[in-house]
Amino acid sequence: MLDINEYNDFFKLFSQYENRIGWRINDLCNFKCVYCFSPAYVKEDPAVGRYTPDEILEAFNKTGRSWHLFIGGGEPFLYPNFSKLVNTLKPFHPIQISTNLYNKNTISFANEVTPENITLINASVHIGQHTEKSLLQFINNYHLYVEKGFSIVVNYVTYPNLFKKIQEDFKFMKQHGVEFIVPKPFIGLYEGKEYPQNYTREQLDIINDLRSLTPNERLNSMKKLKFKNQLCNAGKNSFSMDPKGDIFNCSTIRKPLGNMFDGTLNLSDSPMRCTADVCNDNCLGMLSLVNKPKMENLRKKTFADHYQSLKEAFSI
Ligand code: SF4
Ligand code: SF4
Repeated sequence: MLDINEYNDFFKLFSQYENRIGWRINDLCNFKCVYCFSPAYVKEDPAVGRYTPDEILEAFNKTGRSWHLFIGGGEPFLYPNFSKLVNTLKPFHPIQISTNLYNKNTISFANEVTPENITLINASVHIGQHTEKSLLQFINNYHLYVEKGFSIVVNYVTYPNLFKKIQEDFKFMKQHGVEFIVPKPFIGLYEGKEYPQNYTREQLDIINDLRSLTPNERLNSMKKLKFKNQLCNAGKNSFSMDPKGDIFNCSTIRKPLGNMFDGTLNLSDSPMRCTADVCNDNCLGMLSLVNKPKMENLRKKTFADHYQSLKEAFSI
């Protein structure tokens, strides 16, 4: 198992793996967050469950590569027999999972799956969906995963209307032993303004303070990522896959490259120049760049740029 204490940057952790697939495995979710990226969460994608775990493994193995799978949804734990799928794939393909860690399969997964080759569990605490009782259950779930030996980090989406309570929520979680919790900037529109660019200076200060509570920060850029014209390996060794198995170079440009399961897979053998004005692939996008940015520099720069623009806007 990887010891997350060894890493002050998950970017370094994920850089160890050469081939990556960001896999949106399903749509269904038990939550209904206002800021959800996949508003199809109310019903499951009909393709879910079409292939058995063995068929999926065979398709991945046929590529001749070991893939680092970044599995998200919807809520991946609601994928039918998710534990079985993960146990089938993980000896060959390391897995990172993004989950809300509060659904009917959270506890059974921890008991049925061992942490080997699970690189990281990203557990999002969607505070607007929780009561105090359910938040305490979320915290118990976190401790169960820690006890079982999983590397786990909790993300808290800093939705603009939560700023009155964010610090209290962090304090509460810390007091209850949640060691690895990081603010995750909201990306999207709130009251007609685009975020994360429109966080105020006070809000950024709060986010910055909370980020420094843990040395284990993940990249949370405060600015849109722009890599237009840079050489990117998306399409060569980094991909995005949907519930049907359709493969795209990345989730921003979505250049179709066939299907993982029907024999039409057609991967490029050279990097391409990015054509997108903004890269929405975040961590996966940066990992895919041929000349990867240095995370520390990028983080400092994004904050510095943001403060500069605020300074100009407010003449401070
Ligand atoms: S938990 Fe995640 S997938 Fe589910 S509604 Fe919230 S943001 Fe969307
Ligand atoms: S930089 Fe981002 S948007 Fe551009 S090709 Fe790479 S992953 Fe896609």
